[in-house]
Amino acid sequence: MKDIKIGSAKSESGKLTYGFIDGLELPTGTIEKIPVIIAQGLEDGPTFFLTANVHGFELTGVAVIHELMTEKLAQELKGTLVAIPTLNPSALRRYHHKAIYDDRDPNRLFPEGKFAEKASENGDNEYPTLFEHITNKVYSYFEKYADFHIDFHNHSQLSIPYSILDRLFYEDEAQKEDAQKLLDRQKEMVESFGMLVCAEFPANKYLKKKLHRSVSGSTFNSLRIPAFTAELGENRFLVPEVIIGSVKGTSNVLKWAGMLEGPIEEITEFPVPKPKERTRRFDHPRVKRSGIVRFIVKPGDHVTKGQPIAKLTDILGRPLDDGYIRTEYDGVMVALQTKMTVYPNDTIAEMGIKDDYPLLAQMPSKKV
Ligand SMILES: [Zn+2]
Repeated sequence: MKDIKIGSAKSESGKLTYGFIDGLELPTGTIEKIPVIIAQGLEDGPTFFLTANVHGFELTGVAVIHELMTEKLAQELKGTLVAIPTLNPSALRRYHHKAIYDDRDPNRLFPEGKFAEKASENGDNEYPTLFEHITNKVYSYFEKYADFHIDFHNHSQLSIPYSILDRLFYEDEAQKEDAQKLLDRQKEMVESFGMLVCAEFPANKYLKKKLHRSVSGSTFNSLRIPAFTAELGENRFLVPEVIIGSVKGTSNVLKWAGMLEGPIEEITEFPVPKPKERTRRFDHPRVKRSGIVRFIVKPGDHVTKGQPIAKLTDILGRPLDDGYIRTEYDGVMVALQTKMTVYPNDTIAEMGIKDDYPLLAQMPSKKV
């Protein structure tokens, strides 16, 4: 069996083992430790990483990992499952989006990898910031061991569970065929999870939002390993049905990867929208003016172009314009904003709409 050593955790065939990665030395005398669980099977097979809670108030993935990682699983597995229940302990401790010592979105701080520009003249780019000390270490283990990877998130308090299919970048024409093969595997992997699949934002926006530096975006685009983000519905609290359905979905992917026996099981614990066409994430609708918003649709609803999504009134409750915000697209309501007050151009929801953009894109040329 493959020997896997991650921080102080060492794999043992047929067993669960535990340990910690020393993530960041703190000035107050302790170390920010990143917890690791390894389940190694009795037979050889791939190494699959599960990570969760890079955003500290997104909790479902922690519970999914705790449910899934059992001695029984270690007896049944072909290969090794490595789980990191929290990538961001300081954020989990205070139920916050970000690490206590780094005010940037932690899901945009994984290494630039293939997208790295040459260091600027004064060398500023060469020094990792605080959370990047942690992401660089975790990434080095992905690089060393991972064959597959899922990163668990929760979109918002009013959202359905779904999975994200990232855009894939290639450097030049010679790489295009290999990129297509990787993308085809990726699509199969995400579909085997069994939830709604939404393609990520189109290539330009993907880079602008630094999604190639998200946890799974970096493993997929830079390490060229099939990897995806699973958004598991409501954040800040746990929904038992979503945990059960997500354990089932993750087991499905392990079956797809040849690491567990048995048929792929349909998720029945919550409704799974099934659009006829490939769908992408899209921030929509937006409001034209300030006001008070109340939704008249729910997460998961299918909607059609022109349908009212929410009521729009002034603070006295009087309708503004015709009193409604409507969708300009057919699609699925994936997540609704939780705020009631809006300003011009605010988006009030994320929808899944028909994806007309290519999933493969050429990488922009690097700066010299
Ligand atoms: Zn998240």
